[in-house]
Amino acid sequence: MYNAKSLKAEEFISDEEILDTLAYADANKDNVELIDEIIAKAKLQKGLNHREASVLLACEIPEKIQEVYDLAKKIKEDYYGNRIVLFAPLYLSNYCVNGCVYCPYHLKNKHIARKKLTQEEIVKEVTALQDMGHKRLAIELGEDPVNNPIEYVLESIKTIYGIKHKNGAIRRINVNIAATTVENYRKLKEAEIGTYILFQETYNKKSYEELHPTGPKHDYAYHTEAMDRAMEGGIDDVGLGVLFGLEMYRYEFAGLLMHAEHLEAVHGVGPHTISVPRIKRADDIDPDQFDNGISDDIFAKICALIRVSVPYTGMIISTRESQAVREKVLPLGVSQISGGSRTSVGGYAEPEQEEDNSAQFDVSDQRSLDEVVDWLIDLGYIPSFCTACYREGRTGDRFMALCKNMQILNCCHPNALMTLKEYLEDYAGEETKAKGLALIDKELEKITNPKVKQTAYEHIHDIGEGKRDFRF
Ligand code: SF4
Ligand code: SF4
Repeated sequence: MYNAKSLKAEEFISDEEILDTLAYADANKDNVELIDEIIAKAKLQKGLNHREASVLLACEIPEKIQEVYDLAKKIKEDYYGNRIVLFAPLYLSNYCVNGCVYCPYHLKNKHIARKKLTQEEIVKEVTALQDMGHKRLAIELGEDPVNNPIEYVLESIKTIYGIKHKNGAIRRINVNIAATTVENYRKLKEAEIGTYILFQETYNKKSYEELHPTGPKHDYAYHTEAMDRAMEGGIDDVGLGVLFGLEMYRYEFAGLLMHAEHLEAVHGVGPHTISVPRIKRADDIDPDQFDNGISDDIFAKICALIRVSVPYTGMIISTRESQAVREKVLPLGVSQISGGSRTSVGGYAEPEQEEDNSAQFDVSDQRSLDEVVDWLIDLGYIPSFCTACYREGRTGDRFMALCKNMQILNCCHPNALMTLKEYLEDYAGEETKAKGLALIDKELEKITNPKVKQTAYEHIHDIGEGKRDFRF
């Protein structure tokens, strides 16, 4: 029944295969010989399959777990260096016809403020985001064919790309909308979106149907097969994720990797990103009512194992997580984080009043973007606002080919430094600027290719003179 190449959800995410995998992992969680073999394979940095990774997730031998953490750190350094790409979510509308029991936007929640931004309000929001220094957004909307039709999404994307305010510009818009048709995915591709993001929430069909009792999202197969339709519509960068805390984490983890294997097997390209959200408190939602919550330690182990299992896939962590948790998992393979986020509709231009609650979840990390940039620099990371690959057409298999050959290192490092320099010139506070400029001087020296180094020096100098938007 299990078939990674099938286009049927229940065959490429086979419940039977996941249960077999979990039993296999349980039976082998103390099998040191097998665990060593799997770790040796992981050290080749070409990834692990869902069975192998599940054994490591079940394993509780401290030295072996430490080896996995060390390897995750090494892979992170080899593929992504010390760069962290920054982005912000932008909530356009919280109208939604679905009944997801873990989300305050569910249809039956009558005491949340419903809002949908007009194009004029979008201009205000994006101007505020540009004034913070953001270049990369993820737009978020509930599912509502009347209030949030595809035409509204397309018009909003056009508005956002068109806003030029001072030196600001949004150079990449990732889109998180409900599962839709091939035709609509084609329209999103034509609107030049970056990544199409859709969280599976849970791969367990039975739980999925219970957690989504009403609305179009109730259809497990339609939701699970969405990425195949997106790829058919020409979108080759897709972002997966599960909402940890809804189901057993080991089940979800196996399902997530099987989904990645399926995309690779059918389309030749794995997921561009994987997000690792955990369920959070929000209006009408109490995370304690879900009894599958995961501890910070398990969360860190999952992050490390995702890094080891799919080295070429970016990993995203949001402001759902606290500063402390973010610090713990950043070195284990996270490549993108959000910063200065507001999870309410219209929260950037004017912070929302308490009685006007339209937020999807409570933000744990409340710091401003400048504080996040400053913190990253203090931790030894290069905050990056790079969007170069997408704008150079390096998406899908072209991106993956670069990544798999580790050639991406020749682009990412100088691009990170150039976009950081733009940020420091245009938006940073005094202290952040001084630290950032010193970091750029130090990091420029690490570029080994003399031609790239010379060009990067010249561009960074020119940014100081007022020029913008250089990229490799
Ligand atoms: S998770 Fe998405 S689809 Fe479900 S209620 Fe919230 S906004 Fe709607
Ligand atoms: S060069 Fe490409 S992979 Fe590297 S940070 Fe920029 S957009 Fe991402």
